[in-house]
Amino acid sequence: KPMVIITIGMAGAGKSTFVQQINSYLHARDSPPYILNLDPAVANVPFEPNIDIRDTINYSEVMKQSVALSPCWFYAVKYNLGPNGGILTALNLFTTKFDQVLNLVEKRAETVDYVILDTPGQIEIFTWSASGAIITDAVASSLPTVVAYIIDTPRTTAPATFMSNMLYACSILYKTKLPFILVFNKTDVQPHDFALEWMHDFEAFQAALAAHKGTTDEDGEPTYMNSLMNSMSLVLDEFYQHLTAVGVSSVTGDGVKEFFEAVEASRVEYQNEYLPELERAR
Ligand code: GDP
Repeated sequence: KPMVIITIGMAGAGKSTFVQQINSYLHARDSPPYILNLDPAVANVPFEPNIDIRDTINYSEVMKQSVALSPCWFYAVKYNLGPNGGILTALNLFTTKFDQVLNLVEKRAETVDYVILDTPGQIEIFTWSASGAIITDAVASSLPTVVAYIIDTPRTTAPATFMSNMLYACSILYKTKLPFILVFNKTDVQPHDFALEWMHDFEAFQAALAAHKGTTDEDGEPTYMNSLMNSMSLVLDEFYQHLTAVGVSSVTGDGVKEFFEAVEASRVEYQNEYLPELERAR
C-alpha cells in the first residue's frame, strides 16, 4: 500500500519547495508520487498535481459569491474577511466530493508508493477546520498516513519562537493522533542541531531561555514569561518522545533520504498504533 504524506507548514516555511524536492527525488527513483493539491488560492505550484482543488473549485468565483451571498457582506468587504473565508469555503465544497477523490487515489494504490497531500498555505484553515479534519480522517482510515510538519529553521532559533512552533506542532499531533515528522527545513541556511539539542536536553533549552534578555526581573527572579516557558517545556518533553525530527534543505535536497527513512518508520507506527485505535473506535 502507498503511504500518504500530509504536508503542513506555516506560510513561507518552504512547503511548496519541499513538495517539489521530494517529488523530484521520487521521480529520480522511478517512483513518481500521486500529488493532491488542496490549496485553492495558490497561484502556481512548481509541480504538476494529479488532483487539484483548483480544477473543481474556482476560488475567485467562490470569493465573489461568498461575499455576495454573505448576510454580512458589508463586513466582509469592510473588514476584508474575504481571502480566508474564500479558501475555507472552497475547501468545504471540495470536501463534499472527497469520497470521489479518495476513490481515484485508491484506484492508483497498486501503482504508486507515495501519495502527497499539499495543504493550504494558511495553516489553520486546514488544521482547525471541519473539512481539514474530515479529509485527514478519510485518508488516514483508508491508507497508512504520516504528517510532515515543515518548519522554517532559520526563523525558529529564538527559544520563545521555537517553543510556540513546537506547541503548534504538538496541538496538531494530538488532534490527528497520526505519526508525525518534524521537518526542519532550510538547513543550508541554518543547521538544525540547536533544535535537536533543545529537544533532547531540557537543561540546554532552559539555559538558552535564560540567556535571552528579559527572562529574569531586576532581582534576578524568573519573569512570568520565563516560568511559563519552563512549565511548557515540560509538556513538550513528553511530546518529543512521540515524534521524529529530520533536517532537510528543500533547495539542495540534503536530508531528503533521511526524511523517507522516517516516513518508512512511520508506516510501522501507523500499523502498530494508529490502526488499532481506529479499530477500537469502530
Ligand atoms: P510555502 O509558503 O511554505 O509554500 O513556502 P515556499 O516553498 O514558497 O518557500 C518560501 C521561501 O523560502 C522561498 O523563497 C523559497 O525559495 C525559500 N526556501 C524554501 N525552502 C528552502 C530551503 O531549503 N533553503 C533555502 N535557503 N530557502 C528555501
